[in-house]
Amino acid sequence: MLVVQKYGGTSVGTLERIEEVAKRVSKAKADGNDVIVVVSAMSGETNKLISYAEHFSKNPQPREMDMLLSSGERVTSSLLAIALNSMGFRSVAMSGRQAGIKTDKFHTKARIESIDRLCIEKELNGGNIVIVAGFQGVTELDEVSTLGRGGSDLSAVAIAGALEADLCEIYTDVDGVYTTDPRIEPKAKKLEKISYDEMLELASLGAKVLQTRSVEMAKKLNVNLVTRSSFNNNEGTLITKEENIMEQPLVSGIALDKNQARVTLRGVTDKPGIAAEIFRKLANDNINVDMIIQNVGHDGTTNLGFTVPENELEITKSSMSEINASRTVEYDSDIVKVSIVGVGMKSHSGVACTAFDTLSKDGINLEMISTSEIKISMVIASKYGELAVRALHAAYELDK
Ligand code: ADP
Ligand code: ASP
Ligand code: MG
Repeated sequence: MLVVQKYGGTSVGTLERIEEVAKRVSKAKADGNDVIVVVSAMSGETNKLISYAEHFSKNPQPREMDMLLSSGERVTSSLLAIALNSMGFRSVAMSGRQAGIKTDKFHTKARIESIDRLCIEKELNGGNIVIVAGFQGVTELDEVSTLGRGGSDLSAVAIAGALEADLCEIYTDVDGVYTTDPRIEPKAKKLEKISYDEMLELASLGAKVLQTRSVEMAKKLNVNLVTRSSFNNNEGTLITKEENIMEQPLVSGIALDKNQARVTLRGVTDKPGIAAEIFRKLANDNINVDMIIQNVGHDGTTNLGFTVPENELEITKSSMSEINASRTVEYDSDIVKVSIVGVGMKSHSGVACTAFDTLSKDGINLEMISTSEIKISMVIASKYGELAVRALHAAYELDK
């Protein structure tokens, strides 16, 4: 078998942890598999590097940030290779470039465009365990790029897809995907299986156990994805096609996204083309707009609200300063988004009503609502975020 194993920050957070990982990797190799490992930086390292940059500048150049941030994964990949070699398992570390990972030119949130599978294959054929530095690639101009926070998950899935691996295991600090973040609700239950679509919603709505784009890619390339803990041998969660899951619960999970900010434009000229102008500007600046709400117009003007990731608020502000279509613009980062996800919703009514009822009983005001076939998202004040998650978790009996 060809297996890809990805180890997150906590899993390689100390030298002792790297040694544990080396043992697990060597076991997979000794069992007769070809093994590719993708590693994150040591936990806290990427944040530390960002804070170093912020010491000098509020707006560091994205190219320089990528040079800086990619170094964290270089450290862990080479240390793991050194550890494995010293245990008698031949192993080579590769940077994103050496692994043949090509991306677009959007520094700090680049997308993988292609992987030259020969680069890794050559080392595998030589009998090596290949350790790839996660979270990075190179642009067409050979500039180092990074894939957005949590991007090592994407490196692993993309490599598994490109090399047609039999299995892609994501090792982290929880046993798998739970009905909600077990740090917020200790009664959360581990899911044995979850569909790509539900996982995609949970991830994009804030469950950081898997990076959103990695799930998207796993679905597209049909990668067998398992999330499990590097701290024990418990079975993890399989992320798979919907038809492989026999019984679909109504609601599979609750997600909380704290990285949200709301923008409200008041007195927006109410005529065709204005919304297009506003959102074209945001798209050109590569800002991820999520919920959009427009009020019924009145007196030739209307109000328009939307949410963006909180860490894109500064660039959103400068983007909006070039738009003259509204009277005032307000920004609020004191909000969170809580979401309910489940494919069972497609065929059942009353799911939304239970959510609204539950939150109202706790006196929580709904500031924005949006729904799709398999999710309901609500924007509420930050201070109620965790309370709302626990209340909804109980309301849908996810702890049973
Ligand atoms: P890694 O560093 O291994 O990539 P992350 O910190 O990115 O790990 O992701 C794992 C964390 O995701 C867990 O510690 C947990 O707190 C959080 N998490 C959020 N939602 C969920 C969920 N539904 N199931 C499991 N973990 C979740
Ligand atoms: N080290 C990067 C981050 O902290 C990438 C990753 O861990 O997946 O976001
Ligand atoms: Mg992660």
